[in-house]
Amino acid sequence: MNAAAGDGHFDLVVVGGGSGGLAGAFRAARHGARVALLEPGALGGTCVNVGCVPKKAMWLAAELAQKMGLARELGFALPTPLPPLDWRAFIAFRQKYIANIHASYLRRLDAAGIALLPVRGRLAAAGVVACENGLALHAPQVLLATGGRTQRPAIDGADLAIDSDGFFALDAAPRRVAIVGAGYVAVELAGVLQALGSQVELFVRGRRLLEGFDADIAAQLAEDYRQQGIHARFGTSLRSLRRTGEGILLRDADARDAGPYDCVIMATGRRPNSDGLGLEALGVEVDARGFVEVDDFQRTSVPGIHAVGDLCGRAQLTPVAIAAARRLMDRLFGGREGARLDYDDIPTVVFSHPPIGKVGLVEEEARAAHGDAVRVHSAGFRPMLHALADSPQRSLFKLVCVADGGDDAPERQRVVGIHLLGEAADEMLQGFAVALKRGITLADLHDTVAIHPTSAEEVVLMG
Ligand code: FAD
Ligand code: NDP
Repeated sequence: MNAAAGDGHFDLVVVGGGSGGLAGAFRAARHGARVALLEPGALGGTCVNVGCVPKKAMWLAAELAQKMGLARELGFALPTPLPPLDWRAFIAFRQKYIANIHASYLRRLDAAGIALLPVRGRLAAAGVVACENGLALHAPQVLLATGGRTQRPAIDGADLAIDSDGFFALDAAPRRVAIVGAGYVAVELAGVLQALGSQVELFVRGRRLLEGFDADIAAQLAEDYRQQGIHARFGTSLRSLRRTGEGILLRDADARDAGPYDCVIMATGRRPNSDGLGLEALGVEVDARGFVEVDDFQRTSVPGIHAVGDLCGRAQLTPVAIAAARRLMDRLFGGREGARLDYDDIPTVVFSHPPIGKVGLVEEEARAAHGDAVRVHSAGFRPMLHALADSPQRSLFKLVCVADGGDDAPERQRVVGIHLLGEAADEMLQGFAVALKRGITLADLHDTVAIHPTSAEEVVLMG
C-alpha cells in the first residue's frame, strides 16, 4: 500500500484499476477525497494491457504494411513479397510503451496520495470492502469498476482456441487463422493479421459484419476485406473444434469441416466481472447477463455503491468508463450536483482496415424513430492514394438526417447520424461528433468550406 492508507478509513474505495477506476480515483483525489484503489493485476486494466493500446499498436503496424504495399505499386523499390514484420522486435516496442504507461500511473497515484492495494476486493457490507489479504477498508462511497473478460461458446474443443488476450501473447504471426465472431474484436484482429501476412477466415453466425453499425458500411468493409484476401463465411454455426496433425479443424452444424488452421481466435464477446464481488448478499442488482444495474448517476440499487464502465454493459468503451467516473466524482466530491454522463451520441471507431467511425443513429434506428422524415446522403469514392495506386479499396460516407416537418431544405435537415468508412475516418470523426452533439443541420455542413483534396471534405459536400 502506498501513501495515505492510515487506519483503513477512506472517503472512497475504488475496486478495479482500469480505465474507469483510475479515472474515478484521480478525479476524487483532485477534489480532496482520501482514496484507496484496489487492483490485483496490471494498472490500466483491459484497455492498457489487452485492449485499446496493444490493439492500436498492432493496427499501426498493419497500416504500415498496407502502406508499404501501396508504396511498391507507386514506384518505391520494395521487394515482392514485402519483408515480414519482426513480431518480437515490434512487440518489444509495444510493451515498452505500455510499461511507460504503468510507470506514469504509479507516479501519478503516488503524487495524488492515492493508496494502491495490489489485491482483489469484494463488498463485505455497505461501506466496507474486504481485501483478499484480509484487510477491511471502510468508506461511505464505493466505486465498482471491475470491467469484464472474454467469453467463448460452450462447444467441444473451444479451449483449443485463443481469445483476444491470447492474441496479444502471440510472438509470431500464425500462418492460417480462423476468427469466430463479427464484432469489434473479430473485425479488428482479422484486418491486422491479414495485413501482417496471415491468411484469415472469419466465421460469422449471422449474415453481416458489425451488427449495430450501418449496414451499407459493414457490407463495403466486407468487400474491402474480400479484396484484401480475407474469406468471410456468413451464416456458419460452429459445433466443435478438434486438433489434427495438420492443425485445428472447425466443424459446423452440418458436420462440414473447415481448416486446418494454425490458430483459432474466439472473438465472441465479453462478460462482466460481477461474480465474486459480494453483490448478491448486499442486494446490488444485476441484469440477466450479470451487468450491474445503475441509474443515470451511476448509482446501484444500494446507497453509497456506484459502478462504471464495462461492468455496467452500456457502451463498453474506455472514454465512456472514464467520462462516467469523472462526472460521478465531480458530483460526489466536487459539488457538481447534476453531473452525469449523457450516453447519447457517443462516437466510436472500429479499427478495421480501413477504419469505421460512427456517431448517432444508424438509418434503421432513425427510421424507427422518425419514419418518412429520414433523409440519407452518401458518398462512395476511392481515396486518392488508393486511386493513384489503382487499389480497389473504396470509402463510403453516410449522413443520416431528419427533415423537420418533412421539409427537405438543408436548413431543416437535422444531422442525427454520421457513418464513415475510409482512410483516416478514425481521426476525422471526433470533430464531426462535436458538431453532431451540438445539433447541426445539413446546411451547417454545406456552409463550411471544404478542405481540398482530402477525404474529409466529402462530409461537407454530401446532400
Ligand atoms: P477494465 O479496463 O477491464 O478494468 C477493470 C479492472 O478491474 C481490471 O484491471 C481488473 O484486474 C480489475 N478487477 C477485476 N476484478 C477485481 C476485483 N474483484 N478487485 C479489484 N480489481 C478487480 N475501447 C475503446 O474505447 N477503444 C478501443 O480501441 C478499444 N479496443 C479494445 C480492444 C480489445 C481487444 C478489447 C477487449 C477492448 C477494447 N476496448 C476499446 C474496450 C475497453 O478496453 C474497455 O471498454 C475498458 O477497458 C473498460 O474499462 P473498465 O474500467 O470498465 O474495465
Ligand atoms: P461484440 O459483442 O462486439 O461481438 C461479439 C461477436 O461474437 C458478435 O459478432 C456475435 O455475433 C459473436 N458471437 C457471440 N456468441 C457467439 C457464438 N456462440 N458463436 C458465434 N459467434 C458468436 O464483442 P467483442 O468481443 O468483439 O467486443 C466487446 C466490446 O469491447 C465491444 O462491444 C466494444 O464495446 C469493445 N471494443 C471496442 C473496440 C473499439 O472501440 N475499437 C475494439 C474492441 C472491443 P452476433 O452479432 O450474432 O451476436
